[in-house]
This record gives sequence, C-alpha cells and structure tokens, in this order.
Amino acid sequence: MGVGYVRGMSADAAKSSPVPLDLIIEAPKVLLHDHLDGGLRPQTVIDLAVASGYSELPATDADSLGRWFSEAAYSGSLERYLETFKHTVGVTQSVDALSRVARECAEDLAADGVVYAEVRFAPELHVEKGLAEREIIEAVLAGFESGVAMAATGGRNIRIGVLLTAMRTAANSRSIAELAVEYRDKGVVGFDIAGAEAGFPPTRHLDAFEYLRRVNAHFTIHAGEAFGLPSIWEAIQWCGADRLGHGVRIMDDITINADGTVELGNLAAYVRDRRIPLELCPTSNVQTGAADSIATHPIGLLRTLGFRVTVNTDNRLMSGTSMSHEMDLLSQAFDWDLKDMQWLTINAMKSAFIGFDERLEIINTQIKPGYAHVRSELETRLNS
Ligand SMILES: [Zn+2]
Repeated sequence: MGVGYVRGMSADAAKSSPVPLDLIIEAPKVLLHDHLDGGLRPQTVIDLAVASGYSELPATDADSLGRWFSEAAYSGSLERYLETFKHTVGVTQSVDALSRVARECAEDLAADGVVYAEVRFAPELHVEKGLAEREIIEAVLAGFESGVAMAATGGRNIRIGVLLTAMRTAANSRSIAELAVEYRDKGVVGFDIAGAEAGFPPTRHLDAFEYLRRVNAHFTIHAGEAFGLPSIWEAIQWCGADRLGHGVRIMDDITINADGTVELGNLAAYVRDRRIPLELCPTSNVQTGAADSIATHPIGLLRTLGFRVTVNTDNRLMSGTSMSHEMDLLSQAFDWDLKDMQWLTINAMKSAFIGFDERLEIINTQIKPGYAHVRSELETRLNS
C-alpha cells in the first residue's frame, strides 16, 4: 500500500499559456492504442461500400456518415456502438480495401504529427469473403508501408508497428498469437485481445499468452475498461501483460481520503511500482462510461501519482478524434503544457514494443528536438 498527497503534488507550478492547436499538431506524438477498423475516413467507408456492393450504410455522404458514427458512439447504447464496427468491418473484406485503409491510417496519423504508432486489428474479422488470415495481414502491412512512404514524400516521418488482435469472445487467440510471432520481423510488433470484457476474462486465453512469453514476444490486453480490478489483476498476474489496454479502472484500487491523502491498494501499487504502462483513451472512456468527463478523467490523478500513463485515440472515427485533439482536450482540462505533452509522449515511446535502441533513437532524434522546436516557436509568438 502506498500513501501520497494529491494537493500540492504537481511539479508544474509555473504554467505557460495554453498551447495553440497548430503547435500541438506540429509537436511529435506517440500512439500505442488505435484500432484500424475504428479509424476509417467517412468518405473511404462510402467508397469501399460502393466498390464492394455493401448496401447497409446509414448515410451516403461523408459529412452525415461521420456524424452518424460519432452520434452512435455517444448514444450510450452498446448495440449502436457495435453497429459502427459492423459497417467498417463490412467494407474491409478485400485486399484492396485493407491496404487502402492502412495506407490512409498512416497518412492521417503522420499529418497529425504522430511519429510512432502501434495500430491493431483482428485478422479474424476480415475473413467473411474468403480472405486467408495471412493475406489480410500482408495487405495491411503493405498498406502501412505505402502510407509511410507517402508521408515521407510529404516531409513527415512516421514509423508504424502492427499489433494483431484476437477477439476475446472467440477461440482463435493461440493461432493469432502464432501469426504475430511469424510476422514479428515483418512489421508486427505485438499481440492484444479485445472485445466484450465482462464474462470473458483474460485467463480464457492463457494458452496464447504463455506461448508468447515462451517465445519472448510482447503483448497488451484490453483490461479494466468495461470491467474492473479482477480483469486487470488477471491480465498482469496470470497472463503477464506488458501493458494494459485502458486500465482506467485501476482507480477502483485507489482511495482518495477527505483530507486529500491518497492510498493505493496492492494492485495499484504493483502497477505503479512495476511501471506498467496504461493505454488511456480519454474520449473513448467518456463514450463508454468508463469515465464521466474529460475534466474528471482519472488521467489527471494518475499522472500526478506518477503512474506510467499514455494518451491514445482508440477509435478515431467513432470518437471524432485524433492524437492532437486528445492532447488539446487534456491541455484545457488539466492546464497541461508542452512539458506535460513531452512527458506523456516519452512515456509512450518508452512503452512501445519495438527494440530499446529504436525507441531511444526516436526519443533523441525526433521527440526531444521536436518539442524544443515547438517550445521556441511558442516563445517567439508570446514575445512578439
Ligand atoms: Zn481499444
């Protein structure tokens, strides 16, 4: 158990002015939790529906469709939320569609100032029209490669690592884990399980996780989003997860006393002591009810307490968001400045699944110089 103080713990007494959005976009950012099927451009959904004869879209122009996605995600209805993925998955059942979606994902992230991203997808969701899982993985990897090359042509450097996701409600996790290892030197950097959390504990997939640990592979687990501490505990102590997808419900093991002191239970203390990264997704957490609002999102307290917190988008289309938008919301809610954004970004880079030397290189050649540049640009503006 650990005890600390919330009040007066912030090391950032002297705050600078709010950071303008264009500088937030220019600042280097790192994204660890982003779903490929949750990040399509609305126009692309329409184009792919037309090309594949998919006739179930609720709108036929990009603006209305974009609005429909975010309204469904904010509706509070799980059925409507899940329907959004029925459409994005429904139109990505061919090699061309998967490649295009991955290419555009890389371009969109690069344009938003993301320098490193881990994007995840579940191969088993794209087999409806007969594609083999290896074809699906190779189509996505090829799409990312071409998107990264296009971004570089436009002067934007981004590196993308792929995470293969297995659906926790299904029974394919071991074979997907084996595919993640088969492709680990070809662009896949890790593994994840996602889908309905309640009733489907991580230990259902213990075989996959034990296999991954035996072959020294990395994985994260969606845990502590819709379901609480038992899910987080299993993910860490039974399965050995490197990171927690969301993990926001670790708050259930943190007590804030009336006098402002904070007490950590054994599990919360373990997560903090071991520096286990939390892939927090503020807007998504508000949409699913895992947090009440951005202003009251636990990320503020968890950052003050020194947890290894990272900021993520989860589903950019459904949440109508981007990394810069999430940073902007947090900057406004918690008065965070460029120093905080750099801290969050380096946290995320340290927690990535690529090699230590590669992580250091991105920190030293892109993140630190990038923030130094943006800080001096902000100072120039403030002094002019
Ligand atoms: Zn997620």
